[in-house]
Amino acid sequence: MRIVFIGPPGAGKGTQSVRLAEKLQVPHLSTGDLLRAAVRQATPIGKQAEEFMQTGRLVPDDLVREILVARVEESDCKAGYILDGFPRTEFQAETLDEMLAEHGKPLNLAIEIRVEELVLLARLSDRGRDDDQQDVIKKRLQQYNDLTRPLLEYYQQRNVLHVIDGHGTPDEVFDRIVVAVGQGSGEVTE
Ligand code: AMP
Repeated sequence: MRIVFIGPPGAGKGTQSVRLAEKLQVPHLSTGDLLRAAVRQATPIGKQAEEFMQTGRLVPDDLVREILVARVEESDCKAGYILDGFPRTEFQAETLDEMLAEHGKPLNLAIEIRVEELVLLARLSDRGRDDDQQDVIKKRLQQYNDLTRPLLEYYQQRNVLHVIDGHGTPDEVFDRIVVAVGQGSGEVTE
């Protein structure tokens, strides 16, 4: 199974995508986690990405592409993976399509977790991550609206988009996702 999660910061993508990866027994790939690790290790990509992340802007596509492609090439990704926070731009969606085409594998599902903006703001102010200060939060939401939201149409046109109501408890949201995954593909293993 190859599944992407799309949603604004605070929608619960991280929590839900980790849970789904565990259930489907495939790796959970978060470009945010990969980039934060690169920043911690002060790799060349990490050094270039750091300022973008601190200010709530998207990291340039070529850097994200490099880090993601390297990860997907690893052997544990052969049977599939869950992408959390990638793609976030149309360029990245095209990169993913090219990668999938090279491997002859389809994208099974794009899951949008939809949450009202006021709820997002409340959740993010509670979270206390470095990039969760008010001005940075606003910037991240704006980047989502401007650059990532258009991907919903991209995936809708390809008939793989499932919209999930992201309100309620994490368990309630997860149950909705499991139903969508069951409907989205007759087969859940490959
Ligand atoms: P996340 O943990 O997914 O919220 O990502 C944290 C930060 O990492 C984002 O605000 C971006 O600066 C950067 N980032 C993560 N994934 C991407 C991506 N696919 N494209 C560009 N920037 C990204």
